Amino acid sequence: MALTNEQIKTLLSLVCTTCDDSLDCDGCYERVAEFAEAELTGRPLCEALCAVRTHLKNCPCCADEYRALLAALEELKQAGPEASQEC
Ligand SMILES: [Zn+2]
Repeated sequence: MALTNEQIKTLLSLVCTTCDDSLDCDGCYERVAEFAEAELTGRPLCEALCAVRTHLKNCPCCADEYRALLAALEELKQAGPEASQEC
């Protein structure tokens, strides 16, 4: 089957909307804990963590993973107030 020019254009634009997502799920998984920490502590995001954020936007599966991690981290914080006393 041959693609029309229109179809090719559509396909290309689909590819282009995802091409700024430079991470795959494995790469995201490796950094997602660091990303969650940065979000919780309000640290500025470095380039690698921005890539994680982009991937989370594009990947519902990793976004779920991230939400679960965030919830766990917040629970951890509430459970141990002494642990958060460092300056
Ligand atoms: Zn993913």
